[in-house]
Amino acid sequence: MRVTVCDVGPRDGLQNEPDTLPPEGRAELVNRLSAARLPRIEAASFVRPDAVPQMAGAEDVVGAIERREGTEYSGLALNVKGYERLVATGLDRVNFTLAASESFSRRNANQSMAEARAAAAEVIGRSVLPVTITISVAFGCPFEGKVDPGVVTELAAEFDSAEIVLADTIGVATPRHVGALVERTRAPGVHLHNTRNTGYANAVAALAAGATLFDASCAGLGGCPYAPRATGNIATEDLVYLFEGDGIETGVDLDALIAISKWLEGVLGRRLEGQVYRAGAWAG
Ligand code: MG
Repeated sequence: MRVTVCDVGPRDGLQNEPDTLPPEGRAELVNRLSAARLPRIEAASFVRPDAVPQMAGAEDVVGAIERREGTEYSGLALNVKGYERLVATGLDRVNFTLAASESFSRRNANQSMAEARAAAAEVIGRSVLPVTITISVAFGCPFEGKVDPGVVTELAAEFDSAEIVLADTIGVATPRHVGALVERTRAPGVHLHNTRNTGYANAVAALAAGATLFDASCAGLGGCPYAPRATGNIATEDLVYLFEGDGIETGVDLDALIAISKWLEGVLGRRLEGQVYRAGAWAG
């Protein structure tokens, strides 16, 4: 059994870090991750630099990537303009994100859900690249609380010509809910945060329910814009350790990944959230 791990550290991770890395620093992270044989890396975000200064210079990040065969490089867009910028850079995949709640859509992307859905349909219709649709706040919203699984299921069905990822954007989901929603929507992907320490249990539940695509960030980079003291995405190397130990192939070089997280600790000047890079891989 094999799964695809997508490292979102250069995007979701660094976007939510207090320190801003220049484009060349973010490209270096992408290049180190591809050398660790990550099958997919979310390299950049094509949002307004005044809205998200940590992601400014997305074109420069992509320009400094040393392409490796076997790694698919994706970028994030929230609207058609972002998609157009992304396509012009030569990335391999579009990750278009839309929210499952009205308040989050307006706060995060400055558009209504109806506008976001229209933009997603336009991107899918026009794109020459494969498209992922990430449904953010699929389990819970910081403004509206629990999100109706029926709404998420409808969104997943509406965009089923694309690859669907269910995102626990603020890290509130628990395993049985994750498993049930993966089963109901038949979404191949999940994007999990470890904000409340349920991220890895959620990944195991998603796997059991049929998910084959897992977002994670090296060293557990990132945070949550709605909970300033919270942790970020599940850590890629912790997820790889967990899966490989259970006989689920990832194709990722765990030792190389651990070395990246140690390097990142030096770059960012603090201990990071991942546990396996500190404990070390156990050869068993
Ligand atoms: Mg996220």
